Amino acid sequence: MFVNGKFCKDPKTVKAEDFFLHVEPGNTDNPLNANVTAVAVDQLPGLNTLGISLARIDFAPKGLNPPHTHPRGTEILIVLEGTLYVGFVTSNQDGNRLFTKVLNKGDVFVFPIGLVHFQLNVGYGNAVAIASLSSQNPGTITIANALFKAVPPISVEVLARALQVDNKVIEDLQRKQWYGKD
Ligand code: MN
Repeated sequence: MFVNGKFCKDPKTVKAEDFFLHVEPGNTDNPLNANVTAVAVDQLPGLNTLGISLARIDFAPKGLNPPHTHPRGTEILIVLEGTLYVGFVTSNQDGNRLFTKVLNKGDVFVFPIGLVHFQLNVGYGNAVAIASLSSQNPGTITIANALFKAVPPISVEVLARALQVDNKVIEDLQRKQWYGKD
């Protein structure tokens, strides 16, 4: 049977492997110089219905986890190595306030559910962080990808008016390669 859209095994057939996963450092050889390795219900079936997941985030120097939001989860992040400039922006009703912090090894920061947030490696070496999220399937919406990589594309008029730029700026943005994993 399925629960929360994911397969739920007969408890008698469940094995330790259903609750186990091994995670290696992510490959940061990409346009953002950062890599998010998700450990959510799609990767670890034993998380189904349990309301928790995590992600390992690897950053090369200047690596960026670009502005994004998790529609179904609050994120709590701990820096294991390196130095990250992190932040989130509150809702329109709360004045779109930006909260930022520079985090070093051992520092922890919270990104409340649904808010747009980012992490940038501002140290000299690599950085590694572990994020835990309060959902087995938190979801990720990367802002630039949602706006400029939509299929089919969002109307140029809509984006030009919304962002107060000329159509040509939008057309250029829509032609770019927007890196991002599913
Ligand atoms: Mn996040």
